[in-house]
Amino acid sequence: MSTAALIVAAGRGTRAAGGDTLPKQYATIGGAPVISHALGAFGALDAIAAIQVVIHPLDEARYRACVGSGLPKLAPAVFGGATRQASVLAGLQALIPLQPTHVLIHDAARPFVSSSIILDVIGALATHAGAIAAVPLADTLKRANADGLIETTIDRAGLWRAQTPQGFKFQAILDAHRAAAAEGRLDFTDDAAIAEWAGLDVALITDDAHNTKITTKQDLIDAARRLNADRMGETRIGQGFDVHRFCAGDHVWLGGVKIAHTHALEGHSDADVVLHALTDALLGTIGDGDIGQHFPPSDPKWKGAPSRLFLEDAARRVAARGGRIVNVDVTVLAEAPRVGPHRTAMKAVIGAVLGLTPDRIGIKATTTEGLGFVGRRDGLAAMATASVRLPSSES
Ligand code: MG
Repeated sequence: MSTAALIVAAGRGTRAAGGDTLPKQYATIGGAPVISHALGAFGALDAIAAIQVVIHPLDEARYRACVGSGLPKLAPAVFGGATRQASVLAGLQALIPLQPTHVLIHDAARPFVSSSIILDVIGALATHAGAIAAVPLADTLKRANADGLIETTIDRAGLWRAQTPQGFKFQAILDAHRAAAAEGRLDFTDDAAIAEWAGLDVALITDDAHNTKITTKQDLIDAARRLNADRMGETRIGQGFDVHRFCAGDHVWLGGVKIAHTHALEGHSDADVVLHALTDALLGTIGDGDIGQHFPPSDPKWKGAPSRLFLEDAARRVAARGGRIVNVDVTVLAEAPRVGPHRTAMKAVIGAVLGLTPDRIGIKATTTEGLGFVGRRDGLAAMATASVRLPSSES
């Protein structure tokens, strides 16, 4: 089974764009044109072998600006016709040389199409000639008379709102479209109606109600707000603190760098206070316990372990939550050794583990003016802060 996506973007409806003439599928929401969101959703799926877009001739330059030098799987766009139905037929004919077994037809003005509904529709095509995304009707329907008064209430049982994608066996929908055009039937408002007219069995696949079509200017504003909320996410801050005591030895590990010193640091692992404090700071951003919980000192497995393992684990936990580390900042409290000469090397280690450029990594040091355990050179300490962007948990 090879499935193509046919994205219909040939409409020139400008209701959504307000006074100007920019068609809604080219308006920018969430940092990208409306049509690019759908192209991205289909393009990201291995189950989609090719994407054909149908555009209006007047939008050629706009479309080119959207796709630039092209996207993987994207066939050159073709021009649509006078109606949506004619535009879909043009797109289907353009797909013939690619010989898809199935096609999913989708409105460019539905930017919220999910990968799950695309895959559900494709799945249903294994047993049906057609399958469409649809939502069971929740509102009660009224038929009005000419005076705007209720004439009758329509039973909503069994009623659905048809959305897209609408998937079909390729040859079957192509034949149905050609037959409709040949008979002068140009009044169908979606492809499922043509399939129905042609006698194909078409399954209704329950979609979520968020796969809305952008039709009005308010739709565009709502869609932009929704995408921006997703995109902006939220900022988390975490902090960490660690202390290790000096013992006999000739080097310490700080920030993943081995530094010659008059003493070593006592600890179960390599006692790297910088990486330990950083690890706790990262875990703090996602409320995921602390280093001692994930790597218990009682577990012999971590004896002498390089602390970059702990930092790598914390970075994985942040990434698993969809997080992106923005910056980290460390202060070392020590009378000795001096940190400055090793700052660049520490940034290189931390940057490699966390995927950060040096300007996002702060490494600072201070003495404590001879005061306290640091001042007495009993040991040293590090404090760390991390900032992480996470997808908003409210959206
Ligand atoms: Mg420690």
